[in-house]
Amino acid sequence: MDKQEVRSNLLNIMSNEEQVKIDENLSTYTFTHTGGEADLFVKPQTYEEVGKTVAYANKHQLPLTILGRGSNLIIRDGGIRGIVIHCGCLNQIKCEGETLIAQSGASIIDVSRFALAHALTGLEFACGIPGSVGGALYMNAGAYGGETADVLRGAVVVDTNGSILKLEDHELEMGYRHSAFSQKGYLALEGTFVLKKGNPVEIKQEMDRLTELRELKQPLEYPSCGSVFKRPTGYFAGKLIQDSGLQGTRIGGVEVSMKHAGFMVNVDHGTASDYIRLIRHVQETVKKKFGVNLETEVKIIGEEPNK
Ligand SMILES: Cc1cc2nc3c(=O)[nH]c(=O)nc-3n(C[C@H](O)[C@H](O)[C@H](O)COP(=O)(O)OP(=O)(O)OC[C@H]3O[C@@H](n4cnc5c(N)ncnc54)[C@H](O)[C@@H]3O)c2cc1C
Repeated sequence: MDKQEVRSNLLNIMSNEEQVKIDENLSTYTFTHTGGEADLFVKPQTYEEVGKTVAYANKHQLPLTILGRGSNLIIRDGGIRGIVIHCGCLNQIKCEGETLIAQSGASIIDVSRFALAHALTGLEFACGIPGSVGGALYMNAGAYGGETADVLRGAVVVDTNGSILKLEDHELEMGYRHSAFSQKGYLALEGTFVLKKGNPVEIKQEMDRLTELRELKQPLEYPSCGSVFKRPTGYFAGKLIQDSGLQGTRIGGVEVSMKHAGFMVNVDHGTASDYIRLIRHVQETVKKKFGVNLETEVKIIGEEPNK
C-alpha cells in the first residue's frame, strides 16, 4: 500500500486536508495512553464521507478499523495497518419529544447529561461510561443494572459496502457486550434513544449517586480501559482476580489495580505489550487456581511491534 497515494484518494472524499493523516500516533486516542500508529487516520465530517471511505477501503481491500473514544481498546504497539476511521467530528445530539438522536462520535456521558437537561429519564446508567455513542452501541455498554439496549430504538449504520442503512432495534441484535455491529461489521453513525419524561431533580440525584459509587470503587485517577474481563457465568472477574492474590501485580508500567481488581492501570509509562502480558498472566493464574477462563471485554487490536 502506498500511503501517500491512499491519502490523496481519501482527500478526494473529504472536504479538507486535516481530515486524513499518515502515521498518526494512536496512544493519544486511547484511555490506556498506549498503542502504535495508524497508517491512515481519517476523520469524516459527514455520513457520506464515512460511507465513501468504507466503500473505498472495501474496493481496494484495505483493512478498516473503527475507533471510538478508545476507552475499551488496547491497540498493540505496532499500530494499525490500513485505514482507521474516527467519528469524533460527528457529535451532534438532538431531542425530539422523548426521543434523543445522537451521532456516533458524541460522548455517551454528554448524551446522558443532555437527557437530564431535557428532563428525560433512562440514560442515568450511562453518566460515567467514558465511551462514544458508537462504542456504546457496538459494546451494548451498560452499568449499574442499565444497558444501552434498554433505551436504543434504532440506528443509522454504514454496512461493509459503504451503504447507509436505517435499522430498527430488533435488527441490532443487542446482547451482553455484543451487537449486530460486532457481528456484521456495521459502523454506527447515530443512535436513537427512547426515554421517558422524568423529574430532573431525581434524575440528577441518581446520576450523582452512580458517579459517587464509581469514584469510590474505580481507580479513575489512572489511565485504564475499565473492566478488562467479561463477567464469567456464575462468578465476578474482579473477585477471582482478588482471590488469586493478583492485585498489585505489575508488568512493565501496568498494574492490576489495588482499588478494583478488574481494572489494570497504567501507572508508569506502560505499553500495550505490558497490558497484554499482564492480561495473559492474570488469565493463566485464575485458570490454574479456579479453573475459570477469563475472556477479555477489552478489544485487543493491531499489530505486534517489529522486534
Ligand atoms: C474508567 C472506565 C470505566 C468504564 N466503565 C464502563 C461501564 O461501566 N460499562 C461499560 O459497558 N463499559 C465501561 N467502560 C468501557 C468503555 O467505556 C465502553 O465499552 C464503551 O462503550 C467503549 O466506547 P468507545 O467509544 O471508547 O469505543 P472504543 O474503545 O473506541 O472501541 C470499542 C469497540 O467499539 C467499536 N466502535 C467504536 N465506535 C464505533 C462505531 N461508530 N461503529 C461501530 N463500531 C464502533 C470499535 O471498533 C471497537 O471494536 C469503561 C472504560 C473505562 C476506561
